[in-house]
Amino acid sequence: MTRIAVLTSGGDAPGMNAAVRAVVRKGIYLGCEVYAVKEGFRGLLTDDIVPMNLGSVADIIQRGGTILRTARCEEFKTPEGQARGIGNLRRRGIDGVIVIGGEGSMRGALVLAKAGIAAVGVPGTIDNDIPCTDYTIGFDTAVATACAAIDKIRDTATSHQRTFIIELMGRHSGAIALAAGLAAGAESILLPERPYDLDDICRRLEKGRQRGKLHSIILVAEGVASAYEIAEEIKQRTKQDNRVIVLGHLQRGGSPTAFDRILASRMASEAVDLVLAGAGGKLVVYSQGKFSSVDIEYALSQPANFDDSAYRLTKILSI
Ligand code: ATP
Repeated sequence: MTRIAVLTSGGDAPGMNAAVRAVVRKGIYLGCEVYAVKEGFRGLLTDDIVPMNLGSVADIIQRGGTILRTARCEEFKTPEGQARGIGNLRRRGIDGVIVIGGEGSMRGALVLAKAGIAAVGVPGTIDNDIPCTDYTIGFDTAVATACAAIDKIRDTATSHQRTFIIELMGRHSGAIALAAGLAAGAESILLPERPYDLDDICRRLEKGRQRGKLHSIILVAEGVASAYEIAEEIKQRTKQDNRVIVLGHLQRGGSPTAFDRILASRMASEAVDLVLAGAGGKLVVYSQGKFSSVDIEYALSQPANFDDSAYRLTKILSI
């Protein structure tokens, strides 16, 4: 009997529950005892670790957030905290851990792997900012949520002939803003990965107005600047009123899309296989239509993904 555990860490992302369900069910199917660590790495330190059964993950595949709860645990970044967490796992005879979370969480998984625990990472973050994988769990849902919100705002923008400045999540990654902007036909998209030119944005607004355009949607990823600051600058330059919407945590919640549920289930299944093969330190990835794994250390050394061709296309389509 092998004992394995699963935890969710960092920001919650829709689809994490589907991943937890798949870890528990596949682990049990393969004859493991499966445990859940509550609140990310914090639960390792506080020994908040509970046994799971088939029923503990019933009725969660469609739910957003994470039933295991999540946390940011600074103490796990210290050698003392790490030793305590690893000690709790050893005492319980747990020799494999599946860590579902973002880039920081993968660093935590690496700490466990280096201590000899078969720790495997599953990329779960709405930001889609983990190198080596085309998609992270939660991104597709966050983009769909943002796109639906922009569509609604566009209705009122058109009716009132207004410019809306919409702030989307993404401190270091503009992936949500870029994908939602392409999907919703935004006029301009401001991303942390690329410089922006407010004069050019205002020129486009003016050109649009001259050809009778009734509305404009400008997206700002939160890492660029506050949408309120951008809106004020635009107002001063164009002498036209505008409106600001900050979508905020709305983008994290909600039922995961079918894509995210499938991605989560398949990635989690791969992760269980890797843990049982003793392949600690691996990150499950989905790239060019295939599931595979890479070393976490390698992935974290790679530059962040940025889809430059999508970015150029948004500029072409919004002329
Ligand atoms: P998101 O992309 O949603 O922000 P994330 O996983 O990147 O998710 P972080 O807050 O960076 O979120 O990391 C989550 C947790 O992972 C931290 O609170 C900490 O417990 C652990 N962690 C992060 N970096 C390290 C590290 N260098 N060593 C050990 N543990 C770490």
